[in-house]
Amino acid sequence: MAKQTRGLCKYCGKEYTKGGMLKHLHACKERKKALEAESGKSRCGYYELVICGKYNKQYWLIIEIKETATLRVLDQFIRDIWVECCGHLSTFDINGVNYDAHPAETDFWGTPARSMNYKLKDVISEGMAFEYEYDFGSTTSLSIEVREHRMGIRTKENVTILSRNNPPEILCSICKNNPAKWVNPEGWYEGVPFWCDECLEAEREDDMAEDDYDEEDYEEDYEEDYEDYYYEDNLLPVCNSPRMGVCGYEGSDKYPEIFEPDKK
Ligand SMILES: [Zn+2]
Ligand SMILES: [Zn+2]
Ligand SMILES: [Zn+2]
Repeated sequence: MAKQTRGLCKYCGKEYTKGGMLKHLHACKERKKALEAESGKSRCGYYELVICGKYNKQYWLIIEIKETATLRVLDQFIRDIWVECCGHLSTFDINGVNYDAHPAETDFWGTPARSMNYKLKDVISEGMAFEYEYDFGSTTSLSIEVREHRMGIRTKENVTILSRNNPPEILCSICKNNPAKWVNPEGWYEGVPFWCDECLEAEREDDMAEDDYDEEDYEEDYEEDYEDYYYEDNLLPVCNSPRMGVCGYEGSDKYPEIFEPDKK
């Protein structure tokens, strides 16, 4: 398996593996200072959650979320940062009970699912783990651990990212030298999933050479076909998510690929 990914601490910008970060976050002086500097009368409980790709643990998020936030808020956060491609269904599995984004009204399959309108504090507790699935066809499965619960000043944000894995190093499957920029979902089976721009262009030129082209038409067709090529091959951008290369996933619109700490 690939080496462990590392991530940056939101407060001090230091880099650790996931395990190292979990320890660090409780000792980070910058974090302590930041929490002490918060002001406000109202207090609130927060859960520290570790969210990982169930089958790809290189991808991880460490967040704090208000205990009064609903599962729907957590679902939306996960969609925004990691999984949303075309509005698929999703579900949390907590102690054998499903909480669905759109629960079916009839009890057709057995235990009816609940909605996501439950507050976290009513369904999770410190030390437990639960699961999340997005898209019941090409499913992305995540495991979520509830690391701890703390009381603090009530902040405006429901969710605060404490750290996140840096993008794993993925090399082009052809040249095995350049960082991969594209992923071919069908390539998982053919052994050529990852492409850099140079190799993609070289492949394209090979294909072009096989066709008979008039010199004059060449430039124009080349431009057009180049666009088609991306489309036809269903290439997707390499991105920092356990949903990379699945369905039409093209990365997050709301969050940068690399986590930006408060202090660098
Ligand atoms: Zn720190
Ligand atoms: Zn999709
Ligand atoms: Zn290459």
